[in-house]
Amino acid sequence: MDALRSHEPAAVTARLRVRVRGLVQGVGFRPRVYTLAQRHALTGWVRNDGEGVLLEVEGRATRAFLADLAHAPPPLARIDAIEHDPIPTQGEQAFRIDPSSAGAATTRIGPDTVVCDGCLEELFDPTDRRWRYPFLNCTHCGPRYTITRGLPYDRPRTAMAPFSMCEACAREYADPLDRRFHAQPTACPDCGPQLSVPIETVVTALAAGAIVAIKGLGGYQLACDARDSSVVERLRRRKHRDAKPFAVMVASLAAASRIAHVDDQAAALLAARERPIVLLPRREDSGLSDALAPGLDTVGVMLPAAPLHYLLFHEVAGRPSGTAWLDAPPDVAWVMTSANPAGQPLVIDDDEARASLGGIADLIVSHDRGVLVRNDDSVVQADRRGPVFVRRARGYVPTPIHLDRDRPPVLALGGYLKTTICVTRGREAYLSQHVGDLDDHATRRFHDEVREHLLALVQSTPIAVAHDLHPDFPSTRAARSVGLPTVAVQHHHAHLAAVAAEHRHTGPLLGLALDGVGYGPDGTIWGGELLDIDGARYERLARLAPLRQPGGDRAALEPWRMAAAALWALGRGEEIESRFPAERSAPAIASVIERRLNTPETSSLGRMFDAAAALLGVATTSAYEGEAAMRLEALVRRPVTSEAFGFTPEGELDLRPLFERLAGVDAQTGAELFHGTLIHALAGWLEDHAHGRGRSTVALGGGCLLNRVLRQGLVETLEASGLTVLTPRLAPPGDGGLSLGQAWVAAHTVEGS
Ligand SMILES: [Zn+2]
Ligand SMILES: [Zn+2]
Repeated sequence: MDALRSHEPAAVTARLRVRVRGLVQGVGFRPRVYTLAQRHALTGWVRNDGEGVLLEVEGRATRAFLADLAHAPPPLARIDAIEHDPIPTQGEQAFRIDPSSAGAATTRIGPDTVVCDGCLEELFDPTDRRWRYPFLNCTHCGPRYTITRGLPYDRPRTAMAPFSMCEACAREYADPLDRRFHAQPTACPDCGPQLSVPIETVVTALAAGAIVAIKGLGGYQLACDARDSSVVERLRRRKHRDAKPFAVMVASLAAASRIAHVDDQAAALLAARERPIVLLPRREDSGLSDALAPGLDTVGVMLPAAPLHYLLFHEVAGRPSGTAWLDAPPDVAWVMTSANPAGQPLVIDDDEARASLGGIADLIVSHDRGVLVRNDDSVVQADRRGPVFVRRARGYVPTPIHLDRDRPPVLALGGYLKTTICVTRGREAYLSQHVGDLDDHATRRFHDEVREHLLALVQSTPIAVAHDLHPDFPSTRAARSVGLPTVAVQHHHAHLAAVAAEHRHTGPLLGLALDGVGYGPDGTIWGGELLDIDGARYERLARLAPLRQPGGDRAALEPWRMAAAALWALGRGEEIESRFPAERSAPAIASVIERRLNTPETSSLGRMFDAAAALLGVATTSAYEGEAAMRLEALVRRPVTSEAFGFTPEGELDLRPLFERLAGVDAQTGAELFHGTLIHALAGWLEDHAHGRGRSTVALGGGCLLNRVLRQGLVETLEASGLTVLTPRLAPPGDGGLSLGQAWVAAHTVEGS
């Protein structure tokens, strides 16, 4: 820490000029500097400018001041650097906060953040003027990303522009020692946004079994009683969502423990200010409807993210004063899921809500503050290494991921499924919120909007645009239309490059990309690849011995097709029909595979999971990609290792012996055998290559790493053999992290050209 290595002798009056960079504007940084300066009896000044915060302090305790500032910044600040230089003393009498210098742009916008403790106290304090006001916030909390149009960050460029502050709010806003000093979204019941429906009415409707659409921070959510199967099933029917799990919101950690097993890591994530949905093992006695997550043993749980959410629980609790009721919260659990008509982006517009949610929701709860950009709830798994992102959005975006050093500014447009966008500026990589699958027009338009919004907020001028190697993806076409030099990046190269980027790993890196599907330059479908990457370059060292994928893309939703391919590969094609009597195409499929009709080869581990799940009778079809694998994982109590695998003469890892074993065991035995053997085989395979090349660090990437059993097993086995294992921590392992890897590869390509 530079701040502590100051050379000034202690207890002598000195003056320092200090530059602070990072997310330091609009987060109460100047008041904190002011308070610390008072505490250390320093004079001088502080101001915002185009580079962050600039300040000068003079006195005997400048070193202690710097240490305090570095160690205890305001809660939402993120300090990237504190630089300081000694300058001549000036002998002022006081410390002051200067108005921002002309052209002072807020250099970075923060994410939307949960209600802080101070605001929560006010929310439930009947004597406070913001008692039960659903839009209260301060410099330490509230909406940011979703209400901001562009830089500089000030009220006219936010969704708060139409609301003029009342006298009381204006006083707080102008007072450097107030929690709302320069809080751009600040508001109160007299001057701020208003809810369209009383809280009481919403709670009554939920209790009566209604489906309610609620306008939240990043868009509309659909809520209903999570214990009432008839309403959950009704929601599923109306949303045309057959099996995808619904998340549940409860009032507090105490309430979460009633429905799920919450360990320390999970508790920390649930309570985190980013307020993600955390996937947790469901309790047997949770009382939740089985229709929430059919076939899965987990439940996505979220604590209140916005004041409005808190007020719903507060109403059920009988409007108690203070916050103690959250320790003994009301026994309610509500489904809280994105309000998007099947496959389409989240609804943010009020007219759109009436038009497209009218057929889904019995009641629509709106308000008059706009949502400028959609932002879904984030979804994470709790892992001993920290969160693993299933979906990275609200709360985390637009916090940048720091690269190893300044890199050329580039734009990356992601893949096809679970798409995100990435923009770099200097050493910062800004990964967008989850956009979704680009198979419909509305999502493609959203993809364009996110690109524009992110470029406006980051104020980066990219010099190249990266896209997937697949020539026909909408994101690839969008990249070509940007008018910049394009860089095509192979899908699994991008997955491992994303890991290299976030871990700031430079030089060659050996890794496994364990994934669903990615376009391979050889015309096959990749997804179980052992790659050696180095910046813009990659080499495919080996792959999983491929299976045939009859029906092409259809196989991803019809796992029985992959089981048929595995049986055919074992010379047991004649069993297909009797094993899958319900599938009309089963009798003909052996001949389809044999003759390679619409039957590419695939080395995708995701498809191998499908084959295993269907062979074991766990799932013959999937409602969404990966469902069969999730159901298979749910059966595993303890993975069981076997030597049922081999290698082809080309060094491909051959799983046929494992499929042979699965064809003769029950579902649970098979699930445990599949996971255990896979961990053993994949780890040994990677270790051999690492030793062969003298590498001590390896990487794991790709969507299959969302399988906890596989991920934890691989990491433990590889670490036990002495290897350092890099895994995705800051970006999703799956296709949501693809754009980060694409950006990393494009930046290297530009530098190398
Ligand atoms: Zn607050
Ligand atoms: Zn006001």
